[in-house]
Amino acid sequence: MFDKILIANRGEIACRVIETARRLGVATVAVYSDADAGAKHVALADEAVHIGPPAAAESYLLGDRLIEAARATGAQAIHPGYGFLSENPGFVEAVEAAGLTFIGPPADAIRAMGLKDAAKALMEEAGVPVVPGYHGAEQGAEFLKQKADEIGYPVLIKARAGGGGKGMRLVEHPEDFAAALEGAQREGQASFGDPAVLVEKYIQQPRHIEIQVFGDAHGNVIHLFERDCSLQRRHQKVIEEAPAPDMPPEVRAAMGQAAVNAAKAIGYQGAGTVEFIVDGANGLRADGFWFMEMNTRLQVEHPVSEAITGLDFVELQLRVAAGEPLPVAQEDLTLGGWAFEARVYAEDATRGFLPATGTLTHLAFPEGTEFTLGGVRIDSGVRSGDAVSPWYDPMIAKVITHGPTREIALRKLGRALRQTQVAGLTTNIPFLIRLADHEGFAAGQVDTGLIARDQAALTHVPVPDAAALAVAAAATLPPPVADGWEGLAGFRCWGQGGQVVSLAQGEALHEVRLLHAGATLTATVEAATVTLRRLDGGAFAVAGPGGSRRLAASFDGAEVTVFTGEATHRFIRPDPLAAGAGEAAGGDTVTAPMPGLVKAILVAQGDGVSKGQPLAILEAMKMEHTLTAARDGAIEEVLVAEGAQVQDGALLLSLVPEG
Ligand code: ADP
Ligand code: ADP
Ligand code: MG
Repeated sequence: MFDKILIANRGEIACRVIETARRLGVATVAVYSDADAGAKHVALADEAVHIGPPAAAESYLLGDRLIEAARATGAQAIHPGYGFLSENPGFVEAVEAAGLTFIGPPADAIRAMGLKDAAKALMEEAGVPVVPGYHGAEQGAEFLKQKADEIGYPVLIKARAGGGGKGMRLVEHPEDFAAALEGAQREGQASFGDPAVLVEKYIQQPRHIEIQVFGDAHGNVIHLFERDCSLQRRHQKVIEEAPAPDMPPEVRAAMGQAAVNAAKAIGYQGAGTVEFIVDGANGLRADGFWFMEMNTRLQVEHPVSEAITGLDFVELQLRVAAGEPLPVAQEDLTLGGWAFEARVYAEDATRGFLPATGTLTHLAFPEGTEFTLGGVRIDSGVRSGDAVSPWYDPMIAKVITHGPTREIALRKLGRALRQTQVAGLTTNIPFLIRLADHEGFAAGQVDTGLIARDQAALTHVPVPDAAALAVAAAATLPPPVADGWEGLAGFRCWGQGGQVVSLAQGEALHEVRLLHAGATLTATVEAATVTLRRLDGGAFAVAGPGGSRRLAASFDGAEVTVFTGEATHRFIRPDPLAAGAGEAAGGDTVTAPMPGLVKAILVAQGDGVSKGQPLAILEAMKMEHTLTAARDGAIEEVLVAEGAQVQDGALLLSLVPEG
């Protein structure tokens, strides 16, 4: 085993690797960019090396800099995590040339699976079923269209170098093929420097089921059962589980064997995942799954498989990389219980999953240990007070639960998500809670279209009720000081009249009248009266028209956040002096909602536009965002060029003022 390893990554996966290294007595070296100098992974590691400015291309993607850091600190091996350089065969070769060990597969194995078309051809040869379609070299538009007609619609066009859901287009009708092809080629070129595509049959009622595999340097390859990752939005995973619902043992065995064959065909070592698309229309069948791609690294959702196998995959990675044979054989493995993982992101589900940035003014997770199998596990790379910056993936945490049955593990997931509190920025927690509560999902009716079908209900934002407003108002008061006169200051000053707290949420303005009576507060919100008692940890016991419950809140001096379990309500106390200030900038301008790259400007000066019309495309944090006109009008001026990098709030376009 190694004495010291360097972790060429950041965030939760860097923290995750450090946890296991520590447990194995292996010293750790973290690396960090300027944006991460105070980050959790840096604090957890034994040593840390600064590698450059915030942009990943100038820090976490600089292979030479990382290798230099490993040599300077005496690390013997490099763990790449996921993302960044984890699937870069050139990096693996450079690491090995420097006399260090790459904790992952051989460069050739990564290369073999790097392009989706070549991988499919290779898998076909190895006897692994692949999605029917065209994955050859000929790339003419006419030719591809003819192939699509032969395959039969709907078809999926994929950039062969694609990843993270990018460069894919679903085509339902032949007349839409040409435009979709152009889109996929453009995205492939822009994101991966490669416009080549493949065309696949689009599987109806698809389920995404993937097999975890592990190989060692002695020719052993095992699979560690399946994960179902069908809950996706825009082809990205949201909630994952293991095992897959309604998986017949013979289909599990067939998929496991296919994945092992795939890994053996490329001399695989270390942790990997073979992804299959599965026809979920009439139950799972041994002839109804097809290879999509292989991810030659540890996967984001690996904890659900750890939970059901009782194994630590980072430990296995380190032991295999150190030359040990796999400590378990296929026949030793058993499935234990059921596990779920939900990805908590800084993003606004109600606005097309727009990534959010900001400071985590308050962060609280359910009771659970950082790394134990069973119960509740939280993997997170941030702490209270840390920022989610525009530079990297906006994931805040993974909430993982394990239970003896699917029903219990899912119930625990809903409960754990309700106990996860994040203030300071918008998160997808309310959306995740609704997913965890979804009846179809609870019944195991999972397919990749579920979220899109029920999006309106899943992203619905309830209006805050009297109890939530009362708690928001009470949370803005200074906490009482035990027994001292100071604690009664508010009471004495305001006398029986109490005080009125104004709370603004978007356009809505609420007024809450608070009256103190010893340890109890009485709040009046419109016609409703609610009584409140302050509990520990920013929570209140609330009794009112809707019964009694316990609500938590967090106040950072400007913004107050109430966690109702179903929703996260954020209010600000309006500043009367600032009223009207934002108005002038109202519908007359289009500004960047976040820092990003201007991908396209869709209008020109003088163009007439109508409300809702797309005006510009901004790319930020892996995703494209379409900015639309807030009203009908005409373009006065285009203030940025395509390709410009812009800051949050930057002026992009102006409309001719009304009137
Ligand atoms: P998985 O199947 O493990 O969910 P993803 O394709 O979602 O794989 O990618 C895993 C991780 O890799 C992401 O969470 C992110 O951190 C990183 N990643 C993937 N694609 C990109 C990208 N285009 N830019 C930046 N990070 C990426
Ligand atoms: P990426 O590299 O972006 O992860 P994948 O090829 O793994 O791309 O596909 C991402 C997702 O797109 C899958 O998880 C699945 O939901 C959907 N998908 C991919 N191929 C098909 C297909 N042939 N039919 C239906 N859905 C598909
Ligand atoms: Mg994939």
